[in-house]
Amino acid sequence: MTINTLNAANKPIKIQAVKGMNDLLPDESALQELFEDTVRTVLRSYGYRLIRTPIVEPTGLFIRSLGEITDIVEKEMYSFTDSLNGDALTLRPEATAGTVRSAIEHNWLYNAPQRVWTMGAMFRHERPQKGRYRQFHQVSVEAMGFEGPDIEAEQIILLARLWKNLGLSNISLQINTIGNLSERTEHRHRLIQYFEENLDLINTDEDAKRRLYSNPLRLLDSKNPAMQTLINGAPKLIDCLKSDSLMHFEQFKTLLDQANIAYTINHRLVRGMDYYNRTVFEWVSTALGTELTLAGGGRYDGLFEQLGGKSKPACGFALGIERVMLIWKHSLSARNITHPKGIYMPLAYIVHAGIGTEKLAANVAEQLRDAHLFCVKHAGADSFKTQLKRAHDSGAMYALIIGETELEKNQVIVKILATGQQHSVSLNDMNALLLYLSSNQEVLGKIA
Ligand code: AMP
Repeated sequence: MTINTLNAANKPIKIQAVKGMNDLLPDESALQELFEDTVRTVLRSYGYRLIRTPIVEPTGLFIRSLGEITDIVEKEMYSFTDSLNGDALTLRPEATAGTVRSAIEHNWLYNAPQRVWTMGAMFRHERPQKGRYRQFHQVSVEAMGFEGPDIEAEQIILLARLWKNLGLSNISLQINTIGNLSERTEHRHRLIQYFEENLDLINTDEDAKRRLYSNPLRLLDSKNPAMQTLINGAPKLIDCLKSDSLMHFEQFKTLLDQANIAYTINHRLVRGMDYYNRTVFEWVSTALGTELTLAGGGRYDGLFEQLGGKSKPACGFALGIERVMLIWKHSLSARNITHPKGIYMPLAYIVHAGIGTEKLAANVAEQLRDAHLFCVKHAGADSFKTQLKRAHDSGAMYALIIGETELEKNQVIVKILATGQQHSVSLNDMNALLLYLSSNQEVLGKIA
């Protein structure tokens, strides 16, 4: 295949990002980093350790784990053939399958259960719209080797803490139990029977018709308005559940009650992947008008065996980073909180002009960094005026100004940017400057 990178006039074609795949721009990234730091801190405080798995996995991994008759596998995967060896590969649409693959391959569950998490890009070929992208990012959190409902309750409590730490309210929790395989098989029989009694309507809906025998559970997820009355009257899985599953769900609910976590039971909640069993949950926000699922997950006790490993109970969830950022930005502006630039605001911006001053400026900058003070040294030969404007724009508290006079006297002018006050400080005793810069932070914080 030849790919044209020049237009008819032999000029480079302007290349743009793939539709549904976005850039994170520098003006957005302070908030993004704050979010990621908050996530890391919360996850660490519950004992979760970071793992990373490849973005590309064998296509079979997803077919085997998510299920052949699912939206993701049927129509959303970015799959391709490796031109070197003909392997069927796929850009990961989610991270649980890869994490389980890794646990089996490296046997890292051999002597104890593990809490792990990862964060990164996922790919689904969906129709892009607000909150739905083709490359998006998830925080994927997995607790493997844990059997009891306490672990999924803990994951929900963890998420509630994350919402609280972000200052997000009005995110509601929906829960359901989808039983184990034999209970689901029983439900499946009852569903097929029920839908067969209503074939006229089923035959008007292509997806429903196709899924009636392959995956009737997914019919319950249909957004087709004509199907809703039929769906509402369908046999409920809860009526097929035996005592073990019911007990698991009861205990899970009790744990949420004890933690004062409000929830609604949504018997129609079925997740988009086939590997789930028993508990499933979703956190939903309506802050932007329509319902937006921010995070969803549940148990997947059968997945290890399904992928050829030893049986291990497990539970996890994925949080959609772009969606949480959307809601968070909305919430911050509703609370009149401007985007914090904080983490990118240097304490000092070093301005220098004149022969030989660059060397001194670089030297001072490194000494500040040695003392863990965050500074930016102006790069390039611009005028003092331009450099001071950059200093203001950076949000720094001080400009440290070095001209030829300062170089000669081995000193800097410290300018407090908020007030315009300035005075000279000798560099003969660097500690004096360091102390001055750090001790004034609090006072100056108030002025600013
Ligand atoms: P899932 O892996 O489908 O259970 O999704 C978990 C979370 O990932 C969802 O609740 C969303 O927040 C997010 N998510 C899923 N698909 C997309 C997408 N195409 N674009 C943006 N976020 C997504």
